[in-house]
Amino acid sequence: MDIEKLRQAFEHKGYRFRYFSTAAECCARLDCEIDGKTVGFGDSQTLFDMGLYEKLALHNTVYSPMHPQDGEDFYSAAKKCIDTQVYLVSVNGAAETGEMVNIDGFGNRVSSSLYCHDKIYFVFGVNKIMPTLQEAIDRARNIAAPKNAKRLGKKTPCAVKGDRCYNCSSPDRICNALMVHLHKQSRIDVEVIVIGESVGL
Ligand code: SF4
Repeated sequence: MDIEKLRQAFEHKGYRFRYFSTAAECCARLDCEIDGKTVGFGDSQTLFDMGLYEKLALHNTVYSPMHPQDGEDFYSAAKKCIDTQVYLVSVNGAAETGEMVNIDGFGNRVSSSLYCHDKIYFVFGVNKIMPTLQEAIDRARNIAAPKNAKRLGKKTPCAVKGDRCYNCSSPDRICNALMVHLHKQSRIDVEVIVIGESVGL
């Protein structure tokens, strides 16, 4: 992976870009710089595995659908993330050409990754990066989504067979919106953080 080429691709599209060799380094750095803020999390196995919620919750007001508090469930926690000062999310696929892809079932992750925050961080490991946008979309649909369906215990053909997307009509379908981030949004600070190891699904 040529990180400098990756940096150029994302910076050309208006994003700030940082690279960390390990998830632990990334987590420690974000823990230092996000302080005293309201913070929302997209449901993300990457961020969950990094343990970032636990660290930030010690000195920020943090909402996460993967960590509902007393009286909350996934959906009510997700709604609280909509207009936080900081929003953190991962991606299901990214392209070396500087685009990012997410698939969502409920819509909280893709909608909250667009606006209403002072700063948005996209955090992902090198395992998410593909050469082209089409291959990033294919990864999101045929690798990440089936793995997530299985992780969530969904009754879908992809979760049973684990080999690809079947474009199902199951009530448990988790692929209802596909978001392609073609370029940084206007009037908002968005940073792409790549981790030099495999993290998340
Ligand atoms: S559309 Fe259905 S089969 Fe395809 S990945 Fe999503 S849940 Fe699985």
